[in-house]
Amino acid sequence: MLDTRELGRRPGSQREVTRTVLAPADLGIEVLRVPEGAQVELDLRIEAVMEGVLVTGTAYAMLEGECVRCLEQISDEIEVTFQELFVYDDQSHHRVGDDLEDDEASRLEDDLLDLEPLLRDAVVLALPFQPLCGDDCPGLCTECGARLADDPEHAHDAAIDPRWGRLQELQQGPELSGE
Ligand SMILES: [Zn+2]
Ligand SMILES: [Zn+2]
Repeated sequence: MLDTRELGRRPGSQREVTRTVLAPADLGIEVLRVPEGAQVELDLRIEAVMEGVLVTGTAYAMLEGECVRCLEQISDEIEVTFQELFVYDDQSHHRVGDDLEDDEASRLEDDLLDLEPLLRDAVVLALPFQPLCGDDCPGLCTECGARLADDPEHAHDAAIDPRWGRLQELQQGPELSGE
């Protein structure tokens, strides 16, 4: 929550605010998110306008997730920008011709501004839906699940079922050395 009372509801008055908050739960998407409790740095400009307070900001945070192809851990950083008008909660809701827009607006509550929904939307929008450990991640071997990026030459002899391969080794071992 950010207190906007200092602005005194005077259109044109503005303030720069820098603060560090702790990430709420579920800030992101399932495969990539800001870890809960991680620091999120906010650079904000809050500016009083006729109807409310305009917030323009940038947020910086770390990200953790998993590559959707090979499940490798991903650590990354995110920087998002956002802007939103928060309307004073005692402004009239229904002005002629402007009803719809007004109903969708974010609202100040007692001149306090809740940044969390705004931050969440900005972060979720900025994230790739399919995060990868690298642009050309080859994924996992479909036969044994090995991570192909670690072993690019990885191959299976398609003609031999893995179980038969094992059997051949067992047969060869003692016979070759035993005579
Ligand atoms: Zn990967
Ligand atoms: Zn394999």
